Amino acid sequence: MKVCMIGTGYVGLVTGTCFADIGHEVTCVDNDESKIKTLLNNEIPIYEPGLEKLVAHNKDEGRLKFTTSIEEGVANSECIFVAVGTPQKDTGEADLSYIEAVARSVARNMKEYRIIVEKSTVPVKTGEMVRRTIKFNNKENVEFDVCSNPEFLREGSAIEDFMFPDRIVVGVESKKAGEKMRELYKPIIDQTFGKSSYFYKHNKNKSPFKKDHNVPIIITDVNSAELIKHASNSFLAMKISYVNALSEVCEKTGANVLEVAEGIGLDKRIGRHFLNAGVGFGGSCFPKDVIAFYNISIEIGLDFKLLKDVLDINKYQKQRFIKKIEKALWIVKDKTIGILGLAFKPDTDDMREAPSIDIINALLKSGAKVKAYDPVAMDVAKKVLTKVEFCDSPYDVAENADALVIVTEWKEFKDLDMKSIYKKLNYPILLDGRNIFNPAKMRKIGYEYHGIGLNH
Ligand code: NAD
Repeated sequence: MKVCMIGTGYVGLVTGTCFADIGHEVTCVDNDESKIKTLLNNEIPIYEPGLEKLVAHNKDEGRLKFTTSIEEGVANSECIFVAVGTPQKDTGEADLSYIEAVARSVARNMKEYRIIVEKSTVPVKTGEMVRRTIKFNNKENVEFDVCSNPEFLREGSAIEDFMFPDRIVVGVESKKAGEKMRELYKPIIDQTFGKSSYFYKHNKNKSPFKKDHNVPIIITDVNSAELIKHASNSFLAMKISYVNALSEVCEKTGANVLEVAEGIGLDKRIGRHFLNAGVGFGGSCFPKDVIAFYNISIEIGLDFKLLKDVLDINKYQKQRFIKKIEKALWIVKDKTIGILGLAFKPDTDDMREAPSIDIINALLKSGAKVKAYDPVAMDVAKKVLTKVEFCDSPYDVAENADALVIVTEWKEFKDLDMKSIYKKLNYPILLDGRNIFNPAKMRKIGYEYHGIGLNH
């Protein structure tokens, strides 16, 4: 099928490229000229494992194009995906102005039947506003469908998440649109990527599925599909806040959150995922989606208090960690603090709402000097953290630092030579905000070790 992907950020670029890789003809559109220029120069504007090769292959095969022209994308494609940002407004609601702008442009360029698919995360009932906007702006009265197809990929494993999803959710308003969406996703549903798929060729043995597995596709109405995305992200954020609240209970009662999480997570009804205590969630999705969902509840005359608690616990957990650092250092002013990990999670360069930002800013405010290292997010971090000394390696961060703080659980940090780091530090204070180290081993080396929710 011919597909147009409007917005080539973390979601649009991955999704558009993956659609091309499973055999569709994809035109990716972005109004950021520099982004399109970068892509046309065979460079990738974001860090996402495996994406560069997948883009290059599909460009070479002629199935993936990049342009700044919505007109071109709409003219050439039956299915128009909208994957632009839906950031948080000061009020906490989702800012849908990018969605509206795209809906207007699509409508003005539509000459025949099109399916307009919301890929961005949007509040329930946005589809109705998209339909209305398109109707008002399409003077030729062209037939069209609005569809919701929320995205569940995670940065860092985005390609595999697209190719091997737990489920595909599609909200439609007509049978025709449902059939088209089923056809579009057929290679994913029945896991037949086709001979030309670069991904299939290089990841044949990585499939988590048994032979003949069919990925479930849930076809709903548009409102339900929109709601599924907010409800799903809020539930995951709730699990993180739950275990983070438990971590404080553990610290105050002499229990160990790692053991408690294992003990509850092995119950299939609960599940082990998203039960890792830490410094709180961040990123471009959970914080904004939970608050947007909470605002929807207020708007419809309900007060979904649980969501408010999820956000409050998340904020409190960060403050608790900052207090932990301050307590360990006794006096923060004029101390040098080494930070390992800046991105909001490993395997991405995304700094949006990263906990590192609040933690570092609080320490700077207390008069500390901050040195930091992240394997891929430093270029992005430099734009938001202007008073930090960025180092070339974790070992440089440790040199003469008065404490070492783990904020993001990059795998390479788990493999560090902690004996050599110990020798470089002024004070052997290790604050492990992600529980990546074994406390007993660290203490044996000589560290004063502080984890999250641990009793030993
Ligand atoms: P992003 O900021 O990385 O990308 C958005 C892109 O849209 C940018 O490149 C921007 O230039 C482009 N854009 C904005 N207005 C445009 C216009 N009028 N015409 C053409 N292009 C335009 O955002 P993202 O992280 O890819 O997120 C996109 C949406 O997907 C959001 O709603 C987000 O909540 C949702 N989502 C994100 C993730 C994730 O992990 N990042 C996962 C699932 C869902």
